[in-house]
Amino acid sequence: MSAFEFFLDQTDTATRARRGRWVTPHGTVETPAFMPVGTRGTVKGVWPHQLADLGATMILANTYHLAIRPGPEVVRDLGGLHEFMQWSGPILTDSGGFQVFSLASARKLSDDEVVFKSHLDGTLLHLSPEKAVQIQEDLGADCIMCLDECPPADAPLDVIAAAVARTTAWARRCRDAHRRADQALFGIVQGGIDEGMRIRSASELLPIEFPGYAVGGLSVGESPEQMYRTLDFTVPVLPERKPRYLMGVGRPIDLVEAVMRGIDLFDCVMPTRNGRNATAFTSRGIVKLRNQKHQRDTGPLDPDCACPACHGFSRGYLRHLFQADEMLGPMLISVHNLAYYQDVMKGLRRAIREGTVPAFRERILAQSRLEGTGKGDGDAAI
Ligand SMILES: [Zn+2]
Repeated sequence: MSAFEFFLDQTDTATRARRGRWVTPHGTVETPAFMPVGTRGTVKGVWPHQLADLGATMILANTYHLAIRPGPEVVRDLGGLHEFMQWSGPILTDSGGFQVFSLASARKLSDDEVVFKSHLDGTLLHLSPEKAVQIQEDLGADCIMCLDECPPADAPLDVIAAAVARTTAWARRCRDAHRRADQALFGIVQGGIDEGMRIRSASELLPIEFPGYAVGGLSVGESPEQMYRTLDFTVPVLPERKPRYLMGVGRPIDLVEAVMRGIDLFDCVMPTRNGRNATAFTSRGIVKLRNQKHQRDTGPLDPDCACPACHGFSRGYLRHLFQADEMLGPMLISVHNLAYYQDVMKGLRRAIREGTVPAFRERILAQSRLEGTGKGDGDAAI
């Protein structure tokens, strides 16, 4: 019997939103779900037990960063990622492919592998599909990803086509290299924002019969409308009875729009990165805590939020922490933003159950504007 099982409990009649449960060796994930990102084996500034308290069931760690430091063998010898990070729930690792394409200062790409220079010390690292799987087996997450090629959004069609072909060939090699039965290896659909390319990528990956599929190559410079349209033609060709994961997306409204198109799993650095920059997502809209208007504000950040940052601390104090460059500020707003994201996912699961997804979308859309202005979020959520 497989260590993994996905139960599709309900599909919304008005949209394609779905509610399910994904059983993994380290616990069950209620979907749709958002995974906080622990880039280097830690969700920056947040204790593992706080993540669980906020309602997170599954988290993500980055293969590229952990492969460079401390190295997969070190993590393995320290007991694997769960023991290393002191997170007992499910974990997902990406393949390292995205950082290779987004971060590496120099790289050489061939059909066999990608060779790149570490952004830390310039050391040459070789990443082949087999190596990406081996690193992820050493790290020991529950869900691991095939090595893929992720071209930029504005890449010409021939470059996208070559990336789709290479992603398929690499997916087969990842499947052949994968040994651990307690890990689920996902395929990643590429193809930019082109319908034909996305269909081709999915149709080549589906016969490999991965236990779940990710949609990669989005949130790389395309507009939100282009991303939604791409999901419109990509998600329906994915298997109905397997989890679907949208990689690296995004703003709260993007999560809602993607859930309405049938996505089950998400990850994004946005709640913690924005938290470190004094930008909070709240039920009243986006709040920029460095703004002078909060200096003597005795009220809570978000009266509808039950997180530690919204309990007792005033907006004036939270602003002070950022102005004084105190580390508690980024910690508290990271926790708050993660609480907001988990509340959005909880709200989505409830809305699917109650058949109120479109109304829920309207609410999150209103909360995507800057508090008190009714204006769009501009760069606030980018
Ligand atoms: Zn809060």
